[in-house]
Amino acid sequence: MHQITHWGVPGVKVILENGVEGCGFAGTHAHLPTDRLITGFIDQVCGPLLIGESFGPSLSEVDRLTDKVFHFPPSQWLGRAGLTHVALGAVNTALWDLAAKQAGQPLWKILRQHRAASVAGSPPEKLEPLVAYNTDIGWLDRTVDQLTDNAKRACQEEGFRAVKMKVGKPELDEDISRVAAVRQAIGDAIVLMVDANGKWNLATALAAAPRLADLGVQWVEEPLWYDDVAAHAELVRAGGPAVALGEQLYNAYEFSNFMRADAVHVVQPDVTRLCGVSEWCTVTDAAIDGGFSVVAHAGDMGQVHAHTSYGYHEVRWLEYIPWIRHCFEEPVTVRDGLVAVPQDPGAGTSLRSDAIERFGQPWR
Ligand code: MG
Repeated sequence: MHQITHWGVPGVKVILENGVEGCGFAGTHAHLPTDRLITGFIDQVCGPLLIGESFGPSLSEVDRLTDKVFHFPPSQWLGRAGLTHVALGAVNTALWDLAAKQAGQPLWKILRQHRAASVAGSPPEKLEPLVAYNTDIGWLDRTVDQLTDNAKRACQEEGFRAVKMKVGKPELDEDISRVAAVRQAIGDAIVLMVDANGKWNLATALAAAPRLADLGVQWVEEPLWYDDVAAHAELVRAGGPAVALGEQLYNAYEFSNFMRADAVHVVQPDVTRLCGVSEWCTVTDAAIDGGFSVVAHAGDMGQVHAHTSYGYHEVRWLEYIPWIRHCFEEPVTVRDGLVAVPQDPGAGTSLRSDAIERFGQPWR
C-alpha cells in the first residue's frame, strides 16, 4: 500500500528485583516520531504505575497489574484504542512473558493449562499442527514474475503449504490476473489468500468476490475500510471467499461489533494492536464461542502469536513474515510448512543480546 524501509519494534522490559526480565513490543512502520509516542506513553504513564509493584507467582498478577495501567483514568480518557492500546499491549505482553518465565514454561503451555482449568471440557492434550502461511511472497509492488517466483520458491523449496498476496491495484482486472498467475504457479493444492488492506470500496469487493472464488482463494482480508461493519456484513451476505479482518481493530468491543453483525468469517486479533496477550485471548474466546475461525495477524511477526496460537487447539494457521526473527533468542521458525513449537520459557519475546546494539534507536 505504501513503502516502508524498516519494521519498528518499540517495546518495554519489565525487570524484577531478582533480575528476571519480561519483554513486550509492538509492531510499527518504524516512523520514529510515532514510535516515540508509544515509548513515551510506556515511559511516562505506565512506568510510574508499575515501578515498585510486587509481582507474585500467580497468573492473577498479570491481570492485576494490567488492570492498574488499563483503567488509569487519564489514559482511558485519552483513548481506549489506538496508540494507548498499542503501548498497553507491549506492557501486557511483557507481564505475560514474565509470568511464563517465573513458571519456567513457554507461554503456550500456560495458556492451555489456564484454559483447561477455566473452560468446561478440557482442550485435547495433543498439539495440532499450526500451519504457517507466507505473506512475504506477495507485496503489491512486486511484478507478476517476482510474485510467481516467490510463491514457487516458498512452496516448492521452503515447504510452505499456504501463501498470501496483496491486491488493490488501480484496476481490478490487474489484481485478478496477478492472482490467476500465482494460482497457476503454485497449483491447486496450495492454499492462497489475498489481502486488500482496506483499499476497495463495496462495489469493487462485490465484483471481485466471485472471480476470486473461481481462483480458489481461501479468504479476502480487509477488503473494505477497517471500521465499516455494515459494508462488510453486506459482502459476507453476498458470498464468495471468506472475509478476514482484525489487524486494525484495537479492542475486543470492535471485534464483537463485527461478529454480532456477521460481518466477518476469519477473526484476526493481534497482541500488538489489542491490549496484549490478555485481550487477544478475550477476542479469541468470544470468536470460538461464536463459531468464527481465528488466525492471528502477525504484527509481532509471529514471535508471540506462535505461543497464543498453540495455546488454543482451535487456532490452526499463523501468518509468517521473517523480518525481525534474527532479533530474538528463539526466533519463530517454520519447518515443512508448520510453525515449530516454541520451547523456551516465556512469550517468545526475549531479545538477542546484540539486537538493541545493532538495531536500537533512541527512544525519547
Ligand atoms: Mg493484512
